[in-house]
Amino acid sequence: MSIDRLRATPLKFVKGIGPRKADLLEKELGLSTAYDLLYHFPTHYIDRTRIYAIRDFKGEMPVVLVRGQFVSFNTVGEGAKQRLVALFSDGTATMEVVWFRRLKWIREAYRTRTTYILFGHPSEFGGRWSMVHPEIDDPSSPGAAIPFRGVYPLSEKLRNRSITSRNIYNMVMGIMATSEFDDITDPLPAGIVRRLKLMPKKEALRHVHNPASADIAQRARNRLKFEELFMLQLNILRYSRKKSASLVGHRFTTVGRYFRSFYERYLPFPLTGAQKRVIKEIRADMNSGRQMNRLLQGDVGSGKTLVALMTMLIALDNGCQACLLAPTEILATQHFETLTAMGAPAGINIKLLTGSTPKKQRDIIQEQLLDGSLHILVGTHAVIEDNVRFASLGMAVIDEQHRFGVAQRAKMWRKNSIPPHVLVMTATPIPRTLAMTVYGDLEVSVIDELPPGRKPVQTLLRYDSQRLEVYQHISRQLRMGRQAYIVYPLIKENEKTDLLSLEEGYSTICDTFRDYRVAFVHGKMKPAEKDAQMSLFASGQAQILVATTVIEVGVNVPNATTMVIENAERFGLSQLHQLRGRVGRGGDQSYCILMSKASIGKETRQRLQIMTSTTDGFVVAEADLKMRGPGDLEGTAQSGLPIELHIASLATDGPLLSLARKAAELLLDNDPDLTSAEAAPLIAEMKALFDKSIDWSRIS
Ligand code: ADP
Ligand code: MG
Repeated sequence: MSIDRLRATPLKFVKGIGPRKADLLEKELGLSTAYDLLYHFPTHYIDRTRIYAIRDFKGEMPVVLVRGQFVSFNTVGEGAKQRLVALFSDGTATMEVVWFRRLKWIREAYRTRTTYILFGHPSEFGGRWSMVHPEIDDPSSPGAAIPFRGVYPLSEKLRNRSITSRNIYNMVMGIMATSEFDDITDPLPAGIVRRLKLMPKKEALRHVHNPASADIAQRARNRLKFEELFMLQLNILRYSRKKSASLVGHRFTTVGRYFRSFYERYLPFPLTGAQKRVIKEIRADMNSGRQMNRLLQGDVGSGKTLVALMTMLIALDNGCQACLLAPTEILATQHFETLTAMGAPAGINIKLLTGSTPKKQRDIIQEQLLDGSLHILVGTHAVIEDNVRFASLGMAVIDEQHRFGVAQRAKMWRKNSIPPHVLVMTATPIPRTLAMTVYGDLEVSVIDELPPGRKPVQTLLRYDSQRLEVYQHISRQLRMGRQAYIVYPLIKENEKTDLLSLEEGYSTICDTFRDYRVAFVHGKMKPAEKDAQMSLFASGQAQILVATTVIEVGVNVPNATTMVIENAERFGLSQLHQLRGRVGRGGDQSYCILMSKASIGKETRQRLQIMTSTTDGFVVAEADLKMRGPGDLEGTAQSGLPIELHIASLATDGPLLSLARKAAELLLDNDPDLTSAEAAPLIAEMKALFDKSIDWSRIS
């Protein structure tokens, strides 16, 4: 497998690169082998058949080609400020071309009255167009004849060292001239390549760097994207199929006393249609004989807790116990209280176990867990410690999954000989493409309907200059007996200044709202202190809570109707959405006010406007994925992908991903262990790609 030889070839041994350039490429672009460079793809292509006329330049210009001659060269300025300014004419108009470096070399390399093709980004100043450090081609050189040329991602530093897109292209061409490249075999089974009319691998690599037309570039890219996505899917599906084939689950056949009596007598309100549907899906899973692994997605406030309770009741009806895990003590306590309020009247024994549960209570819990009299254990990480044992754990619900590491979830597995059914609840609306890729065969249920009577949160973007108006709004709400959150960013890199502005903010709020009590929490506080402040707010003794994102998850104070988020531009969209979910939990109209400096860029403004234009978490998550890429997506960063994608994008290549998934499924249907001769190159490639990665298909 010669692609492996390219993987094993350090860049400095590639012809024309050498140790100095290799070092630079490694530092700046993270490229360390010939393979890395081969997989450093152009981000886009320049149509070299399109020549712009200088006369037609206007507004914001893209990178363009112009064809013409230098009229004059002049050295301007002194010392470090010295630059070379040339006048360039294409017959329609003239522009300036400016160089700040390598002046002498350039002065010698180019002549007047000779035709060149310039490639660069024109900018206008005072009615005059200029181009700084363009790439320059002699139209008679062979390189200039290439109709489409890739534009490679570069860093500022590389540009300063005069490494251009063209240099990268030449280095890649060098690799393609080697016998190692020549020997590359296609890892995709020929059947798939044929059926889907994919470009063969070597051809695709050639064309992606050096396409003859836009259409060919597109086909080459699609082929390479497909391969990446296919490998990803095949890897996940292979493990998850193996897992589900081997994991026997409790078979919950009956819907009995607990479920029925709760449903008929204690249900606090009619279920929404979505809640009903999801419970049905879960019931079917639990009766399949295999272990359930289901992700329950539902926007904040959609009523996941009730679904969790009813699911746990089915476990009880079938002689099993259940547990519910939450990431923090506050959340666990809230869940415990909610579940107790609903379940205790129906005769269900529910207990809370956290890090601060006293030993005596712990002992009682352990005793009841083993004699089976404890039905539901709610808690934090404390529940998954090895010394906590159940008589028969049949159902584990995990709330806000992204706070639990994979290893911690794996511990649930070992609590009983038959693993419990697992329901992971999340309010992070993971887009389908991402869920499919990260979780493989994990089933997904979605609660896509809010309980009736909810008013969507009104989201407003306000600038620092409008602060008075914002405070007046808070005042009005407080006078109506409502409560308000004021949220500040607290980010590791800026911890010191952030803490400072948080404390300043707190004292300003205390001064401004003298008639009210203001609670104050942040992640750096001791847990006991934090809990004390939180309960002040939760109980209504404090009317304002100044906080950091510690309140992001699960806090339930329906009387809080306003949230002000300071420096909103510094938060990710998904995070803003999570925060916003803390208001609008009661029947009253709620508001989320995003505060920002007036001087934010266009992109930031657009980002914040997504928040003001929709309350749909999926729309927000999709937008976030598109703008920031999957690695950054809140809540999925931890789950991540097992490999880096070089060319495919989960945000934009959804249809291709589905196609890849179908192809992988079909292949595994026919050859579950990939033992056929045709699959050998595939296995080798998967080994090279995934050997060091984690088995993500095991979500618990
Ligand atoms: P989340 O999905 O964010 O965990 P919760 O389970 O906390 O949402 O529910 C949010 C609020 O909605 C709770 O106060 C809960 O009592 C209420 N609720 C849940 N289901 C319904 C329903 N079917 N009808 C009316 N209110 C409901
Ligand atoms: Mg919840």
